[in-house]
Amino acid sequence: MTDRYAVIGNPIEQSKSPLIHTAFAQVTGQDIEYTKVLGPLGEFAQTVDAFRAAGGQGMNVTAPFKLDAFAYATDLAPSAQMAGAVNAMKFEGGKVYAENFDGVGLVRDVVHNLGCPLKGKRVLVMGAGGATRGALLPMLAEQPAQLVIVNRTVAKADELAALGNKHQTGQVPLCGLGYDQLQGQQFDVVFNATSASLTAELPPLPVSAFAPGALAYELAYGKGLTPFLRLAKRAGVTRLADGVGMLAEQAAEAFLWWRGVRPDTQGVIRQLTVPLV
Ligand code: NDP
Repeated sequence: MTDRYAVIGNPIEQSKSPLIHTAFAQVTGQDIEYTKVLGPLGEFAQTVDAFRAAGGQGMNVTAPFKLDAFAYATDLAPSAQMAGAVNAMKFEGGKVYAENFDGVGLVRDVVHNLGCPLKGKRVLVMGAGGATRGALLPMLAEQPAQLVIVNRTVAKADELAALGNKHQTGQVPLCGLGYDQLQGQQFDVVFNATSASLTAELPPLPVSAFAPGALAYELAYGKGLTPFLRLAKRAGVTRLADGVGMLAEQAAEAFLWWRGVRPDTQGVIRQLTVPLV
């Protein structure tokens, strides 16, 4: 019998998850059906209940329901607890197991797909929202030389740095700053984990923040050259990437968790890549 999975969000039309998981199922020979579910606002639990009652075995969760899924889960993995949000659920009997694969997907894309180990690197993360929160421990586990979180609302950067420091075992220097405190500092990897690119805005990052040979990584995907990537290019950065690989890698982690087999992501990444020109 075909096993059923879905992604739930509102809106949901834009989601690439069905395309990705259907491609994964084909390359791994898994018999699954993966659909989109438009969750009415305020009716997350009822909508998921109905999907489960109809035989659904797992779901990805996208905006605005990642916190609803956190509340709905019966068993939260450490990744979900740390992120404070859930992006994948697995249903087994009365149990709802919940994970957040965004952070591990991001790190896997950078380290494996882009061939850029974070170990020993000076890393700057712009933004202190959900994506940064989820990526914090996976990034610290790579043992960068330094990790700086910079945010428009400095208190949120401080809060995330404190959270990271509470959980980290290797002692990576980690702090939260405001953009005006970045003058004179340089970084080998700069992540744009703000949502500024979604509205074509640019956080006030000094152009001098990119070290020679730096990687500039935009978490948003499918937008070509965003204002952040343009700034990096103007600064002479030649290693530019967007979040398409992160999207594919978090999906592959969920697929592995559900099906016990990890699909190769290269075909999907090629298919979804929008050139950065
Ligand atoms: P959140 O809404 O949780 O956080 C947004 C962050 O962006 C906040 O820190 C906010 O600062 C900052 N911000 C927003 N606008 C500006 C601006 N104009 N200037 C400076 N800072 C700004 O978003 P998420 O963490 O969920 O998502 C962040 C990005 O990551 C998005 O682009 C999203 O698309 C992408 N993403 C990509 C994924 C992938 O698979 N590739 C997966 C998940 C996310 P403040 O606190 O001051 O408001």
